[in-house]
Amino acid sequence: MEKKIVALCGNPNTGKSTIFNRLTGLKQHTGNWTGKTVGSAQGSFENYCIADLPGMYSLRPKSEDERQAVDFLKNNEAYLTVIVIDASCIERNLILALQILDIAENAVVCINMMDEAKRKGIKIDVKGLEKRLGTKIITMSAGKGKGFESLKNVIRTGCEKRNVGSLRETEYYTSLASRLTEEFVTFEKTAADRIDRNIDRVLIGKYTGLPSVVIIFGFMLWLTIVGANYPSELLSIFFEHIKALLYNFLTAINTAPAVKSLAVEGVLGTVGKIVSVMLPPMAIFFPLFTILEDLGFLPRIAFNLDRFFKAAGTNGKQALTMCMGIGCNAAGVISSRIIENPGERRAAILTNVFMPCNGRFPLIIMTAAMFFSAGTGSSAAGALCVLAALIFGTLITLVVTRLLMKNRQTSFILELPPYRRPDICGIFVRSIFDRTLFVLGRAVAVAVPAGILIWLLQNISLGGSPLILYVSDFLDPVGRIMGLDGVILAGFILGMPANEIVLPLILMMYSGSGDMSNILASNGWTMKTALCVVIFCICHFPCTTTLLTIKKETKSLKCTIFAFLLPTLIGFILCAFINVISYI
Ligand code: GDP
Repeated sequence: MEKKIVALCGNPNTGKSTIFNRLTGLKQHTGNWTGKTVGSAQGSFENYCIADLPGMYSLRPKSEDERQAVDFLKNNEAYLTVIVIDASCIERNLILALQILDIAENAVVCINMMDEAKRKGIKIDVKGLEKRLGTKIITMSAGKGKGFESLKNVIRTGCEKRNVGSLRETEYYTSLASRLTEEFVTFEKTAADRIDRNIDRVLIGKYTGLPSVVIIFGFMLWLTIVGANYPSELLSIFFEHIKALLYNFLTAINTAPAVKSLAVEGVLGTVGKIVSVMLPPMAIFFPLFTILEDLGFLPRIAFNLDRFFKAAGTNGKQALTMCMGIGCNAAGVISSRIIENPGERRAAILTNVFMPCNGRFPLIIMTAAMFFSAGTGSSAAGALCVLAALIFGTLITLVVTRLLMKNRQTSFILELPPYRRPDICGIFVRSIFDRTLFVLGRAVAVAVPAGILIWLLQNISLGGSPLILYVSDFLDPVGRIMGLDGVILAGFILGMPANEIVLPLILMMYSGSGDMSNILASNGWTMKTALCVVIFCICHFPCTTTLLTIKKETKSLKCTIFAFLLPTLIGFILCAFINVISYI
């Protein structure tokens, strides 16, 4: 029997994904900002199929993600439509809710975030509003797990079919929402509102906004660098012990030397390097970034950057897609659906790669820690280097966007959500299990075959030299022009399926022993090499998943090839430039 569809819809940032996750046990991306759900997700609750639709502002869609949600509603596909409203800004949310109630036969209203409304001194006459709207209203605080029983009961029993008509002019809904709000909402000014406004005076102030972003990110990166170094070394020592244990075990059971070496160096060696390089910085940076996300800081970054994007011919929405790119560039590319103008959307897609993703961040952090922190004896220097890399990625994004945009520009309405207390338990689950361990698992899955390939290239000889030498010698001249070497370029190329494995592969390919910085230094790495690696890490071809996503989103092979060549060429030119001036 086909499952009945229950659609969760409403304005962005009203708690739809939080409700969806709690109902289905799935893990849709949640966060205190607009634009993170751009495709509809589906999951099961008992015998029902729950659909989490992208947020929208009206039934007259402007962007691709809104269009998806509106089409779904207009086709009346759902057995039940749950219109999720944020209790703390009911008037704005009612404008959309009234539109949906005019076209959806089986709709109920779910007023979420009642806890926040209470904090802000907002009281809602739910019974009165229910009568006036002619539909059932459920109240919830989904973030705290409250109100789910009522919602589940409504899903199980369904609701009475309502008479629907056609959509009217937007002004009709705006004035009706305003009248209803006056009639059924009382509002008392509370300290919470004043505190929000005072924080915003600094965080989005004309002169203080941007420095605040830089200071907050700088502090986060410093914490990451200070915290990651020591556990990284410990993990590396731990894996050396495990390798020794495995080696002894395989010797005891008379394993052939080649198989023993493949298992110990090829497989366990690569996995150990991935875990020790990637795990500590990810386990620190991602929870910190998720806290910013939950607090509501990301839209403030977009607000602060809006004027720069305006100068580049687009608008601050692109900054939101960049924030998504810090997690994963493929997700960043998909999130560009929130941008209505096709030219601006294409620019956002093509430039998303300049934001270091989950896979590239640890490489930048570890390189900065090994060469800039250790080299100067100050962890602040490493943090500044990573911060500079982020600023550099943003500047390149702006310059390339300017070149792509040719003066087209649309306006942009940005919703600044209230500051919300982060859900620490949720943050832990999302950042450690969904992000860190997921990325690590993917990296290990890709690294095992890559490690075996490298082991084979190192151990199979042709004309007296191992095959790996032919590969690195072939790439070496280009690498040298860029201040790198053949091994580093081979690492980036082999790391195309998942950027996470670039540094571990480089370490595997180099000969040498000791800790990571010793291996790199003994293979000729200097501060210049580290700088060029960081620049090339930000400016090089996107990973295969991102390229496939670009092809899917743009439906253009030409655009996908351009997305591959553009950052690679920029990276090549910048690295070669640094290399040349280092000799002057
Ligand atoms: P969506 O964009 O509608 O899917 O909204 P999300 O589910 O991502 O939620 C937006 C933000 O509101 C997240 O930071 C949630 O943790 C938070 N949130 C969700 N429900 C509640 C609630 O009932 N109370 C409060 N205070 N926060 C909530």
